[in-house]
Amino acid sequence: MQIKSIRGFKDILPGEVGKWQLAEREARRIFAFFGFSEFRIPVVERTELFVRSIGEATDIVGKEMYTFQDRDGDSLTLRPEATASIMRAYLEHGLNVREPVGKYYFIGPMFRYERPQKGRYRQFHQIDVEILGVEDPWADAEILAMLIRYLNGLELKNLSLQINSLGCPECRAPYKTEVQKFLQGRKDTLCEDCQRRLETNPLRIFDCKKEECRQALEAAPSVLDYLCPDCLDHFTRVKSLLDEITFPYTVNPRMVRGLDYYTRTAFEVSAGELGAQNAVCGGGRYDGLAQDIGGPRVPGIGFAIGVERLILLLPEKAETTRRQVFLAALGEAPRKKAFRLAQELRQADIRVELDYEGRSLKSQMRKADKMRSPYVVIMGEEELKGNRVILRDMASKAQENLALGEVLDRLQGVMGTN
Ligand code: AMP
Repeated sequence: MQIKSIRGFKDILPGEVGKWQLAEREARRIFAFFGFSEFRIPVVERTELFVRSIGEATDIVGKEMYTFQDRDGDSLTLRPEATASIMRAYLEHGLNVREPVGKYYFIGPMFRYERPQKGRYRQFHQIDVEILGVEDPWADAEILAMLIRYLNGLELKNLSLQINSLGCPECRAPYKTEVQKFLQGRKDTLCEDCQRRLETNPLRIFDCKKEECRQALEAAPSVLDYLCPDCLDHFTRVKSLLDEITFPYTVNPRMVRGLDYYTRTAFEVSAGELGAQNAVCGGGRYDGLAQDIGGPRVPGIGFAIGVERLILLLPEKAETTRRQVFLAALGEAPRKKAFRLAQELRQADIRVELDYEGRSLKSQMRKADKMRSPYVVIMGEEELKGNRVILRDMASKAQENLALGEVLDRLQGVMGTN
């Protein structure tokens, strides 16, 4: 039997990879303007790291992690997200002392055992950004400004930004109790999972997509009415900085995000055209996360963009370069010369393709056409006897006869530098 890939684990084929490269290249370019450096973290961590940060009663930890025992009997987990790992590494290497304000990004695969559907996979990729060590609303506004700059640069349309404040543990505790009280009276209308959540972690009910649970929450108390003066002031300052960059947003007091470590600012960017899985990016502040994993207090804020969903939104753009040529050689001796010329042209940063199988001129020209190569150099036995070749401009169909030694100069002249 032919072996197939695992459900929810997707191949990215060469034909699609151009969009991935564009998304990643733009991220690196824009993030550098804002002073962010790349962080690279391991694929596997101790399970405890995610249990203590993301929270035991969340869907991610409760039912989606790829957890296994290694040969020493340690419980390890494929990372389901990046923030906890980056915080772990930041503390472990003493970066909180050496560079108290850390601005980092990370791009790579994450693993969650979810039910696969369009825009939802078991291995998916995130572009993840974090500012560690800053509590001031400036950090919230900067990171949002960068996210907006990045998404605008990719020319994505119809995005909407929702923000909320989840408060701090002090103001959240009474809010949680109120929500619990409110929902106790409606317990029977909740789905089975949410009835359980009502006891373990009532705020997680806001994540539930089921209609009956959404309805039950319709008149639920708003977190914004429970913010303490400090949290309220923080949120007001984030909004007023956002108003400076005139990107429209809505405040959604029902948005709580699916991870327990969030405090204060939380946000989500969604795209209507993605359908059910419409969240392109989610993020927020996590001022207690460092302590949750046994470190000192280090405030932080970050976001993660789902790359698969971003790719679905990117317009088709054929990427062609004028700096490419097809060498069509006919016969053994010309093929040898073509092999050598190909290396010379590539050395000069020209993309060169040739035919590996000694096919007819007609078939080689078809291949050059398919590749949209703007030029073809034809090298037949006849021409090469006089050390000459034919250069064909595929658009105008004009041909000129050149000395072999002139090819590079001539190509440089007609191709330009793009
Ligand atoms: P989260 O880490 O859950 O806050 O998710 C951040 C972003 O990652 C979401 O807005 C999605 O774009 C993306 N994402 C999360 N889970 C998946 C998944 N299973 N498949 C594809 N993308 C995902």
